[in-house]
Amino acid sequence: YAKNKGKNHFKFYSKQMNKNHNFQAEKEIELFNAIKNDEFIIHFQPEIDLKTNKVFALEVLSRWKKNNKVVMPNDFISDLDNTNHIIEFEKQILIKACKQLKLWQDRDIYNGVISINISGKHLETGDLYKLVVDVLKSHKLEAKYLELEFNEYDVMKISTKTLFTLNNLSVLGVSLSIDNFGKGFSSFNYLRECSISKLKIDKSYIDSLTKENNDEDIVKSIIDLGINMGLSVIAEGIEVPLQDEIIKKNSCTKVQGFFYAKPMDSKEFEHWYKNFNQLNIKA
Ligand code: C2E
Ligand code: MG
Ligand code: MG
Repeated sequence: YAKNKGKNHFKFYSKQMNKNHNFQAEKEIELFNAIKNDEFIIHFQPEIDLKTNKVFALEVLSRWKKNNKVVMPNDFISDLDNTNHIIEFEKQILIKACKQLKLWQDRDIYNGVISINISGKHLETGDLYKLVVDVLKSHKLEAKYLELEFNEYDVMKISTKTLFTLNNLSVLGVSLSIDNFGKGFSSFNYLRECSISKLKIDKSYIDSLTKENNDEDIVKSIIDLGINMGLSVIAEGIEVPLQDEIIKKNSCTKVQGFFYAKPMDSKEFEHWYKNFNQLNIKA
């Protein structure tokens, strides 16, 4: 009886595993086709300096237009990352973003930095330096208009080859930024070694600021760390004025969040930016 049960058990697991395997394979094909059929679009979310009241960067956030529905990045980035398609995908996003920036520059609409999220997989296994050089060149864009964001976790476990890539990008004039900072429990060594110029304080810390037992001390420490190292520090995920007040009190003036602006498509951004600039002229 026991033997029998064991056998059935085995059968059950193997069926399940097979199912999972097929599911993964299907997902991979679906993503591959989505890249091939150009189903990804980009949105832009402003990063604002409250001291100057200027948009100093636009973060590029991708979305998947799948049969008239919009799929958010948290539902496909990790799947892309598990395949090698993330490299082709990020190439597509970089090209789209550069094309849009060039259009905005030519039409005198927006002439600032665009910031692209890059996965650790791409950084480690792709040829990011060559890609960036090629894409900037073909779009006639200067490197100073491009910023790349990496998750702290990905930069922590960096190899010598990758360190070289980051330093080359920095010498080229591209800015490098650490996203979701504070979640990677890292040593701070890499901040110097990797030519980082910006820290984005993880949203969970900013979220906590509205609560009673909040992480203001951590937020303050990150801001101080950034300032002391000559880095620019931005608080991401600002949703209410109280969060704004607290970070300003702690000498951080750079913000990104729904309170100021949600991610927008190019037309929405143009409209928003025109208003934003007009308000500034009046103020
Ligand atoms: P992230 O790079 O940390 O981007 C910030 C995320 O927080 C965005 O979510 C943005 O919409 C959201 N956000 C900004 N302000 C607020 C706020 O005030 N409240 C709330 N609740 N959320 C806010 P999104 O667009 O869903 O992107 C999620 C993550 O997916 C990004 O986090 C990024 O890690 C990843 N991602 C998006 N596009 C790309 C891409 O092209 N390549 C790669 N590798 N990753 C991407
Ligand atoms: Mg980001
Ligand atoms: Mg972030």
